[in-house]
Amino acid sequence: MKPVDLVTRAPNTWCPGCGNFAIQHALKDVVSGLVEEGTPLERVVLVTGIGCHGKMADYLGVNSFYAIHGRTLPVATGIKVANPDLVVIACAGDGDCYGEGLEHLLFAAKRNVDVTLLVHDNRVYGLTTGQYTPTSPLGFPGRSTPRGTPEYPINPVELMIAGGASWVGRGYSRRLPQLRGLIRGGIRHRGFSFLEVLQVCATFYNRTEYYDGHVYDLDTGSFPAGEVDAALAAAREWDYSRDARIPLGVFYEAVFPTFEERLAEQRAPGADPAEVMRKLFRDRT
Ligand code: SF4
Repeated sequence: MKPVDLVTRAPNTWCPGCGNFAIQHALKDVVSGLVEEGTPLERVVLVTGIGCHGKMADYLGVNSFYAIHGRTLPVATGIKVANPDLVVIACAGDGDCYGEGLEHLLFAAKRNVDVTLLVHDNRVYGLTTGQYTPTSPLGFPGRSTPRGTPEYPINPVELMIAGGASWVGRGYSRRLPQLRGLIRGGIRHRGFSFLEVLQVCATFYNRTEYYDGHVYDLDTGSFPAGEVDAALAAAREWDYSRDARIPLGVFYEAVFPTFEERLAEQRAPGADPAEVMRKLFRDRT
């Protein structure tokens, strides 16, 4: 299968220069690679939310589900629990996932459901023409905040490490080879993988020059996997407002039983609920 086979004939309405194109190509290449390695395309499911990113469901020729605003992760969780053999990938926007869907994000992380989430974080509501989102910087002069938002942004990478996600990474829509590797790594990870993608919005919040001048790659060689404190320190290097270097790469990775595995243990014929709980406690500690 050639990567191009996954692109549908749906007319593309993203603005010229939009970072969504790069994310689409990276995801297409990764899914195509999975299929070449033997994963049937029928086993791959894409769930998207509402926003410019959501059009990914139209533009990629894989089984897909267009969820309502903020509800990407409950749908993806339900699909994975109903059929754990599926490879479930969710795409969400920053307004979608960190605004309306924040509670679902925290629950997906704490459950460790085996879903890969890509957040297309352009730090603005692009589809509705430029309002501030939870990751817009202090002072962002959006349509709903013409004097500049007086709110500080959240740091989603820090939030996900603290929230218990078992794989946390950050990519950038103009670093395509690295982005492919991060998406592949997230999908290969057994458990909830959270990939924040700094996505250029060419029309309403173009941070190309700033990102190009500030991003750098985490030195994963000197960065021990599963070290929460080191991961948090790296995540706090940039707080989404301050002028600072922006680390890209994998911040945190740990392996423990997934939500669907724990459910299966509980529901196994003849399982002793108390013994299952003791085992689950041992597995996590
Ligand atoms: Fe992309 Fe921004 Fe245009 Fe939406 S508004 S398609 S995010 S450039």
